[in-house]
Amino acid sequence: MTDDAAGDVPLVASPYDLRVSLGEKIGESQTQHALRTGELGFVHSFTTGSAVDGPGIRVVVWLTGCQFRCVFCHNPDTWKLNNGIPVPLSRAVEQVRKYRHGLQTMKGGLTVSGGEPLLQDRFLVKLFTAVKQTKIHTTLDTNGHFGERLSDDELQCCDLVMLGLKAFDPELHRRITGMDNAPTLAFARRLAALPRPMWLRYVLVPGLSDDPGEVSRVAEFAASLGNVEQVELLPFHQLGRFKWERLSMKYELDKTEPPSRAAVEKALGIFRAAGLQVH
Ligand code: SF4
Repeated sequence: MTDDAAGDVPLVASPYDLRVSLGEKIGESQTQHALRTGELGFVHSFTTGSAVDGPGIRVVVWLTGCQFRCVFCHNPDTWKLNNGIPVPLSRAVEQVRKYRHGLQTMKGGLTVSGGEPLLQDRFLVKLFTAVKQTKIHTTLDTNGHFGERLSDDELQCCDLVMLGLKAFDPELHRRITGMDNAPTLAFARRLAALPRPMWLRYVLVPGLSDDPGEVSRVAEFAASLGNVEQVELLPFHQLGRFKWERLSMKYELDKTEPPSRAAVEKALGIFRAAGLQVH
């Protein structure tokens, strides 16, 4: 794959654009090589000017590939790795570095999100290491399941980890994501022990993750870690519904409304009562 081969696909886009099969021309052996070396990444989109994906104003690289199947996912087109645009590492680094002066002025940086960035752990580490050489702040937005793929040394290239904890209760976590939450909880504890700065993200879905007992367990867990700088409570929304329809996938939250202001306030109160900063 050359820079030119990736060059005919525009990198600047919105995570709410639907992206399908853009990496299908990459064969299995090339894909495995890309994952092993990190010299090529599969990118859903590249956005600038985000004020909600970490501190300050940020460039966000949204990677494809995710092992979770969250029922509330608003980007199910990121699940398949080869839905992404194959982008050489050098081009991704160059693209991010273009914004370094603005990012430093606005106290922002680069956030890598997805999908699940740790499925492309070598690309992530190489991208973060390269942009940090020009003093760009780095944030990893992850579900944490593959946290063990980064060594303690490699975690130093993440200035901040935004950990999405979908549920504390293992059964509820399995119901929401299809996966076990033990690896995510273990990663959170490891980040705390190192320690590395962390924000915790929690999606509040009426009838699913808004039970006060469950929110309390998440809050107590976050407070026990000692490295959680803030909690981001993310009220469920329907912005991604069209993707489920366009991909002909069954969307079980079709009738679910966003949480009421009162429900959001109640959950915020639970986090505050645990002594956490929450937004
Ligand atoms: S972890 Fe994120 S990208 Fe993956 S399914 Fe869940 S919400 Fe979607």
